[in-house]
Amino acid sequence: MSLTPRMRRITLHAPQLTDYELLRPDDFFALLIPGPAGLDLPADGLVGSSPRGVADLIGDRCRPELRWYTVRAHRPDVGEVDVDIVLHGDHGDHGDHSDHDHAASGPGGRWAATVTPGDVAGFVEGNGLYSPTDPSGRQVFFADVTALPALSSILTSPEPAPGVAALGSQATAHIEVDHDSDIHPIATGATVHWHVRDGGPPGLSIPRVLDGVAPEEISYAWICAEASLVQEARRFLIAQGGVAKELITFSGYWRQGEART
Ligand SMILES: Cc1cc2nc3c(=O)[nH]c(=O)nc-3n(C[C@H](O)[C@H](O)[C@H](O)COP(=O)(O)OP(=O)(O)OC[C@H]3O[C@@H](n4cnc5c(N)ncnc54)[C@H](O)[C@@H]3O)c2cc1C
Repeated sequence: MSLTPRMRRITLHAPQLTDYELLRPDDFFALLIPGPAGLDLPADGLVGSSPRGVADLIGDRCRPELRWYTVRAHRPDVGEVDVDIVLHGDHGDHGDHSDHDHAASGPGGRWAATVTPGDVAGFVEGNGLYSPTDPSGRQVFFADVTALPALSSILTSPEPAPGVAALGSQATAHIEVDHDSDIHPIATGATVHWHVRDGGPPGLSIPRVLDGVAPEEISYAWICAEASLVQEARRFLIAQGGVAKELITFSGYWRQGEART
């Protein structure tokens, strides 16, 4: 199912997903992407293994590519997980094309663009990062389109984390997208600002956005996006705003020009 011209929702099904438990709203997993020889997953011995460990248990001929994605929804009763994947590079339908849009595709984007019902892939769970120290304080989020699934889960979850109430207008989210068509509304009480890049490099909106933020009021920041945007936002909050490092959770979800293996 297409959520936007370049974001596809894919449903994974496995009996084991009935026992799987989400710990945090931004929980993620390693997707094991089969090569041309398919994916010969070992039947046992996977419990407790890291994603890399699991991939290493698979013989050379069938060794998968590994990429990270967010669990957008989990339906334990039917053993299903939804994942929303950005179709970038040649697989994205962007309308107008800038140099930035023409970035190469990778195995994750290719898989998402071409996968069909019944295809097999591997799922190895990981744990999300969202962990506000003062859940009732002012929270700020920075994301790009790859972190939109995680951010949407955080902002719409009735119970974002154990003991944390649903987020209201004291939370502000800034989302940088390439084009208007990447905007996918989020039903949340939090304040959401969309920043359209229109062909510029990642991180374009950071100085403008942070100009209006009073960093001393920030009790927690969650920054997940392209690595340079993350670095810039974090640096700005710490250096210019004096926000304590331990109040910031961050992850470079992808890096321009490099594969995220
Ligand atoms: C914890 C975590 C959760 C994530 N959740 C999601 C998610 O739910 N949905 C999602 O779509 N992504 C998500 N990502 C990001 C995703 O893992 C990366 O975008 C990954 O690089 C995609 O792999 P690929 O094989 O398509 O491209 P790669 O092989 O990694 O890279 C190939 C080329 O494509 C470029 N590239 C990679 N991603 C993009 C992009 N989005 N736009 C433009 N160019 C790109 C790279 O810079 C490189 O030049 C997540 C990452 C992490 C770490």
